[in-house]
Amino acid sequence: MDIQESAVLTRQMTASTRTQLQAPDSAIMTEVEHLLARRTRDIRLKGELSRLFQERFWPRTAKIIRAWMTWVALLDVLTLGLNAILLPKAITVSMLLPASILPPAAIACAFIWKRPRAFWLQRISLIAGMFLILLSVALVGVSAGGEFYERHLNIMLFVAITAIIIFSIPLAWTVMVASIALGLYLVFQVLNPGLANGSAVAATLFFASGIVATVVARRTMTILAQKTFLLELRDRSRVAELADANAQLERLARTDALTGIANRRWMMETLDRLWSDGMKSRSCAMLMCDIDEFKKLNDHLGHPEGDRCLVKVAGIIQSSVRRNRDHVARYGGEEFLVVLPGVDEREAVAVAERIRESVEAASLPNPASRVSPYVTLSIGVAAHSPDDETIFPEQLQNQADAALYLAKQDGRNRIVLHKPDAPST
Ligand code: GH3
Ligand code: MG
Ligand code: MG
Repeated sequence: MDIQESAVLTRQMTASTRTQLQAPDSAIMTEVEHLLARRTRDIRLKGELSRLFQERFWPRTAKIIRAWMTWVALLDVLTLGLNAILLPKAITVSMLLPASILPPAAIACAFIWKRPRAFWLQRISLIAGMFLILLSVALVGVSAGGEFYERHLNIMLFVAITAIIIFSIPLAWTVMVASIALGLYLVFQVLNPGLANGSAVAATLFFASGIVATVVARRTMTILAQKTFLLELRDRSRVAELADANAQLERLARTDALTGIANRRWMMETLDRLWSDGMKSRSCAMLMCDIDEFKKLNDHLGHPEGDRCLVKVAGIIQSSVRRNRDHVARYGGEEFLVVLPGVDEREAVAVAERIRESVEAASLPNPASRVSPYVTLSIGVAAHSPDDETIFPEQLQNQADAALYLAKQDGRNRIVLHKPDAPST
């Protein structure tokens, strides 16, 4: 893997980190900051933010709604059973029909809220379910009459209030549930033969004030949950930014600033990794490449031209090796180290020759060089085969260095292969 691939990997890693953290895009973050700058009570989530909020809390909301619906259905059946034991038969029978509306309505609603469905379906199921449940409770009292009439209307309001408090649903839905409860209460109290219309309205207004206070409390809870959600989004975005910055720093720390290829540090880490992955028992070759008479190039054409030459030579070396398996790094001033995993002596010499020829063919000027008027490269090659004794990367590198030294001594612009009996530093 070369440094470009490592950069791609880093980008992919950063992208996957971002997905995991689900950091929102910048437009949303601008909106988040805008909302957080407001007073808490003025926070209103709209559009995408509102959708994200619903999505984030849907499992919790749905679980609470399902549990509430199931328990209300269960309690309805239990109450009916208790009534059958404790109350006269005629009263229980009169309660039977209206009470039987509740369990199917509650169970159907719980079923719809089992998994995410279209927004409209969720809303209709909840509002219709609540209407039928509250109507059922009220009708039980209306059918039984007498003391049960008003008592069940009060129970109906109690049932509505528990739903208003614990259902974390949009405010409009909460208001609808509250209106249904108060509407049913008013209608049945007006129809109550034991109550004058004035008293019916007064009682409704009395309960309305309590229900309005409950809706306001519910709204405050929702706003606080939304603020917590916005703070959570801000945290996620900051963590993702930090991960991006870290990845960028990591990449820079392993890249040579001038040539853009890997630097010596990255190469040392790569060698450690290769060797701990079992490279010592496989074939591997190293090429130590050094530009000939580079000082003269600097002296005659200037340092900036020397820099441009380094960039070009780095590019030539990089493009002369296999992108997926070989590793190239700028090792020193005008030295480049190439590591060829799984390559034997013969192949290594061929690669080295290809690099040397390519640099020569590029005809980069080096007018003062004693070797050629163009830039040339000397390369020391060292190769390790699985049959050889175990070798450490530093030893292979020293062998390549020793071969490079011989190449320089032999007149430069050449390749020398390290021989096992030759001394290495
Ligand atoms: P040889 O053929 O024996 O390798 O001779 P040489 O001149 O290439 O080697 P020497 O070690 O004498 O000089 C290397 C020169 O490389 C000296 C230094 O100024 C130059 N150099 C090192 N890093 C850079 C760099 O980043 N940019 C430029 N332009 N020159 C550099
Ligand atoms: Mg040198
Ligand atoms: Mg040199």
